[in-house]
Amino acid sequence: MSSKEILSITAEILSTNRVLILGHIMPDGDDISSVASLYLGLKKLDKEVRCSIDYDIPSYYKEFPGVSAIENYESTCDYDPELIVVVDSSSPDRVGRFADKLKLFKTIVIDHHATNTMYGNLNWVDESSASCAQMIYILNNSMGVEYDRELALANYLGIATDTGFFKYSNTDYRVFQVASQLVKLGAEPHFVSTTILENKTLEQLQLLSTMINNIKVECDGQLVYSHLTYDDYVLHRCSEDASSGFVSELRSVKTAEAAVLFSEFPQGEIHVSMRSKRWLDVSAIAFTLGGGGHPRAAGCSFSGYNIEYVIDEVIPLLKSSLRDELKG
Ligand code: AMP
Ligand code: MN
Ligand code: MN
Repeated sequence: MSSKEILSITAEILSTNRVLILGHIMPDGDDISSVASLYLGLKKLDKEVRCSIDYDIPSYYKEFPGVSAIENYESTCDYDPELIVVVDSSSPDRVGRFADKLKLFKTIVIDHHATNTMYGNLNWVDESSASCAQMIYILNNSMGVEYDRELALANYLGIATDTGFFKYSNTDYRVFQVASQLVKLGAEPHFVSTTILENKTLEQLQLLSTMINNIKVECDGQLVYSHLTYDDYVLHRCSEDASSGFVSELRSVKTAEAAVLFSEFPQGEIHVSMRSKRWLDVSAIAFTLGGGGHPRAAGCSFSGYNIEYVIDEVIPLLKSSLRDELKG
């Protein structure tokens, strides 16, 4: 464990009063959980803390403690903190329009992506950690934060979602240790799984059916991919968060090593979600395309191209990586 970084970050935060916590654009459960749990932790230490994400937060996360405190860019862009803490974000562009603000204020980066570009004044990057929320648990404890039921629930959220509810290859004994502590402190696993996984609209299931109809395979079924156009989202009255988790369905195909979902939302913005099952490092491919992530889950985005063009650019890269790995 990187105890040196934890001690310096603990000392830095404890000696500061005005803190701004930032998460990443297209926020996921780990990001929202990390922001909310650090926010609740610093509130308990009587800090003058604010938190913000330059993106809409999917509505089902609003049932979690601390999430209603997360502000938008407009309300926080003029705030002058003494310290910024960025969580779960591998590069400055991940904080959206806040990127310029990082140059103006002392910045601490807490993250678990191997693709992190170390853009903070202090960086604690632990790619062996399954979630950033798990790192926030360690930090809160190091700062002497007392956990109550609300904080335990907010913190458990990211540990559950970034491990695919304890299924992904990043799930190790430390995940269960921290999760077990949080459950002991009052987090309810069933509340988290029903709120995140069993909260779909019928329109979302119809969008899933469109994605399944659009499936294509390459490399004898090792590469499974699909796409959703902006028109598909509009037709099913969905927005982009409706398709979160869909790429896992593509990876669930027996023959799949790699799975990719190309999704266009809003119009002209293409997000590429990549997953692998056992050995392909999709973060290396995402990184060459200006994105990032983890070996088994990575992504990148394109603006101003049509979806067919992006598919034609990305699929050959995956095909050749799969072939190179098999040859090598
Ligand atoms: P997603 O496919 O959007 O669920 O993202 C999978 C992983 O890749 C997450 O850890 C994201 O933080 C990361 N990721 C997705 N898109 C990007 C991007 N444009 N730049 C850097 N990392 C990304
Ligand atoms: Mn994230
Ligand atoms: Mn994460």
